Amino acid sequence: MCHDFCGLCRDFLVQSLAGGIELAGVIMGKKQKASWDGYSLKPRKDMPEGLWMRCPGCEHMIYRSSVEKNMNVCLQCNHHFRIPADLRIKYLVDEGTFEEELVDLRSDDPLNFEFRGTTYKDRLEGEEKKSGAKEAMRIGKAFIKGRGVILAVMDPNFLMGSMGAVVGEKFCVAAERAAAESLPLVAIICSGGARMHESVIAVQQMAKTSAAIAKLNEAKGLYVAVLTDPTTGGVTASFAMLGDVTIAEPGALIGFTGRRVIAETIKVELPEGFQTAEFMVEHGFVDMIVQRKDMRSEIARLIDYCRK
Ligand SMILES: [Zn+2]
Repeated sequence: MCHDFCGLCRDFLVQSLAGGIELAGVIMGKKQKASWDGYSLKPRKDMPEGLWMRCPGCEHMIYRSSVEKNMNVCLQCNHHFRIPADLRIKYLVDEGTFEEELVDLRSDDPLNFEFRGTTYKDRLEGEEKKSGAKEAMRIGKAFIKGRGVILAVMDPNFLMGSMGAVVGEKFCVAAERAAAESLPLVAIICSGGARMHESVIAVQQMAKTSAAIAKLNEAKGLYVAVLTDPTTGGVTASFAMLGDVTIAEPGALIGFTGRRVIAETIKVELPEGFQTAEFMVEHGFVDMIVQRKDMRSEIARLIDYCRK
């Protein structure tokens, strides 16, 4: 056992204790569980989470507060955890400079959508209660290392950052504001794609947001797209891939549709690392990978480089 009491050692200790209890049960005449398979060094999947959390990158149990102090990045394997929009804004902008717009814009339910015994309206209320967010995107003006920007940040905790009419509208307002005020538009993208509850209205947002970026382009504005885990579906197929500069966080899943669906449709074996940020850089869809801790400096450097 190492001095650092790493995840592996901890798992071993817990497994050993569990094994000891099992063994005592056998000695005392209790029936042994049929599923017990000895002293496994495999990480346990049912470890309670609280002070400790399991990193999906390295499978180690890590101390939650040490990860939070490290901008929600694993200290052992550099896994970048998904974070809500408010944390994203906190990490990115100069303290207290974010002036949010369209705070109370909420989704409507034009299709009276019902799915698996719940309505879209109920889902929206539930998501708001659960995440504290009112929609899957927040926009506003802010400063990054003293440079003024218009910010659009997606929230994975609200219906998986999916794009409906409100997300589309907010993004377009942000793009228009950036053009009108000659400020760079910085979008932090994290989305499961178009929102199924809004069906064709959600799909229409792809054209609407793309047109807004075309207008910003005509006005010679700068658009920096930051792709985080996950960037998928209709969002990838619209404003996520239209950046003048496209940045990605390490290991982010970036793609249009799922790996299995593609493999089954085109009947080919997909390469190792398909749909990761690193793969996208290699194949020219992403310009660079930036660590979360460097994001502020890198965006400020880009703004200076583009003289915006
Ligand atoms: Zn890790």
